[in-house]
Amino acid sequence: MALIVQKYGGTSVGSAERIKNVARRVAQWRARGDDLIVVVSAMSGETNRLIALAKEIQASPDPRELDVMVSTGEQVTIALLCMALMEQGVKARSYTGPQVKILTDSAFTKARILSIDEQKIRADLAQGYVVVVAGFQGVNEAGDITTLGRGGSDTTGVALAAALKAHECQIYTDVDGVYTADPRVVPDARRLKTVTFEEMLELASLGSKVLQIRSVEFAGKYRVRLRVLSSFEEHGEGTLITFEEDENMEQAVISGIAHNRDEAKITILGVPDRPGIAYQILGPIGDANIDVDMIVQNVGHDELTDFSFTVNRNDYKKALEILKPIQQHIKAREIVSGDKIAKVSIVGVGMRSHAGIASTAFRTLAEEGINIQMISTSEIKISVVIDEKYTELAVRVLHKVFGLDQPQ
Ligand code: ADP
Ligand code: ASP
Ligand code: MG
Repeated sequence: MALIVQKYGGTSVGSAERIKNVARRVAQWRARGDDLIVVVSAMSGETNRLIALAKEIQASPDPRELDVMVSTGEQVTIALLCMALMEQGVKARSYTGPQVKILTDSAFTKARILSIDEQKIRADLAQGYVVVVAGFQGVNEAGDITTLGRGGSDTTGVALAAALKAHECQIYTDVDGVYTADPRVVPDARRLKTVTFEEMLELASLGSKVLQIRSVEFAGKYRVRLRVLSSFEEHGEGTLITFEEDENMEQAVISGIAHNRDEAKITILGVPDRPGIAYQILGPIGDANIDVDMIVQNVGHDELTDFSFTVNRNDYKKALEILKPIQQHIKAREIVSGDKIAKVSIVGVGMRSHAGIASTAFRTLAEEGINIQMISTSEIKISVVIDEKYTELAVRVLHKVFGLDQPQ
């Protein structure tokens, strides 16, 4: 008998019928004697619907009120799943994030989990209940409802698994594992049997939305056994996220291609090339809790340089507003910006020991006439920013040139 955390995403609980299917699966695990904590997302489309509704009232919805509102999606599914479980003869109890005290900081709409009070959950498990917890939400010190950022139910699942030292955290979704690229973009993409934490961290942070990045960070930090599986398949083994030191098999050089259309690029032209300038530009952006992703600064001419960086599209307008007075203050010539960009990335731990990956990637993009606007690299990834309209093409040609469509 083991303690298992299962998380079911929006599509998996997208209708009454699907919720009944989830209940059947949970009932099967329960019948085998396992203790179960089940985390659910809102029904598919519901979070988007709620956000759109809020925007009809307030163009930039107040973050605290937005969280009060969007957290309701998950409150509906926890209750429905418990009802479905009871219909299957399974004892079940639902809790919202605040009820099981998923304590977070106060960064509304992108809060971080600080702690979880496991007492209530443990007591219910001891009495034979399946505990159903709303994903994506928590509560701050002041008692306000917070949410964890889009895709945050994954993080609720992993955080619960870490806090209660579960045997495994199973993320059930609409694909049967982590693929070499988004299967919606690359029909030839293959499921990976295993992927290392390091690679999964890169893939998630570079746009593979199959797992929220914070869930992967949590799993790595607390060494949670994490698996991605399909909720529509009976006996799949999915993808296990492994620690590199556990691996003794030969690694593929490249594990996957990720893409991200959520960013916007801002360039400040004619910036005085002097010490402290990057801080003057990016300090206030960071103070506004805006994450900066890629940064490129060119070699200066005539004591002037150009400074480019990318931010999430949700923060794009705010970043531009912050930069306008800074541009005047530092006497930079002009700000140019746009959100019709995409970031495409190649990820693989094998890159450490193989040369020539970057040149193969750049040649392949050049052959398709795709211009590279920005480049950033780490030991195990290469990312390029390109025109958004070439996203699918770039992902497909890179997937092919690195042989990811071939059985390994
Ligand atoms: P859920 O609602 O279950 O949380 P998501 O939509 O958040 O599901 O994540 C699953 C989706 O992630 C898939 O439908 C797929 O299109 C997308 N995805 C992107 N990159 C990958 C990848 N490398 N492997 C698998 N799925 C991916
Ligand atoms: N319902 C939230 C979202 O759509 C959280 C999640 O699904 O993980 O982002
Ligand atoms: Mg998700």
